[in-house]
Amino acid sequence: MTRFEVIALGVGDTFSEHHHPTSLLLVADGCKLAIDCPDMYRRVLRDASLKGAGPLALTDIDDVLLTHVHGDHMNGLEGVGYLKYFADHKRLRLHTLPEVLEVLWERRLHVSMGRLWDGEAFKDMRFEDYFDARPLAWEGVNRIGPFEVEIRRTRHHVPTCALRVRFGGRILGYSCDTAFDLDLIEWLSGADLIVHETNLGPAHTLASDLAGLPESLRKKMCLIHYPDSLDLQTVPIRALLEGDVLKV
Ligand SMILES: [Zn+2]
Repeated sequence: MTRFEVIALGVGDTFSEHHHPTSLLLVADGCKLAIDCPDMYRRVLRDASLKGAGPLALTDIDDVLLTHVHGDHMNGLEGVGYLKYFADHKRLRLHTLPEVLEVLWERRLHVSMGRLWDGEAFKDMRFEDYFDARPLAWEGVNRIGPFEVEIRRTRHHVPTCALRVRFGGRILGYSCDTAFDLDLIEWLSGADLIVHETNLGPAHTLASDLAGLPESLRKKMCLIHYPDSLDLQTVPIRALLEGDVLKV
């Protein structure tokens, strides 16, 4: 049994000058599961690698779990889909919500990926040419490689899922994007490690709200998705940095 590790690839929000957008890489038993896929994804992997996360290559990642359709979480899908298609001649396994699958191709990716030109003729492309879609079930356990994944709806602008991921008797909890939600935090509270978002606005969680949680929760919690303006010294919870590798 190998370790269950979480690598912080990006820790910022979509407006950040200092960080890549929030994304994680879960590693266990020889499997790498990407949680979300920001733009310039190979650069994101390389930067985390240079900051201490060890060698990270896109060729080693065949599974992406997409939590919702906001651009900071999914703008890399086009490039990754193309690279897998053209260079690796394989499809990316895309694990996501039924609500995301309803709109992802027709309303986001089709406009750019729906047609290819080979120098002579145009070819109409389908979602299935690039992606192997694996819908996540809201109820019960989803199996992705060695991981057991449960999802829960968060309070956000669009359908978005928080995660509980089990491997080897350990549990990672991830809030994903959400307004402050004590019921969600209760759902995450049994995890060995909790990664929680913080940002400004009604659809995100204020760091001051998380700072008010019991110490037993704060001790096993890390912050992600934080704005550049947040003074990390003022929050009694560890903030993740790009390249951090955490044992769950
Ligand atoms: Zn979002």
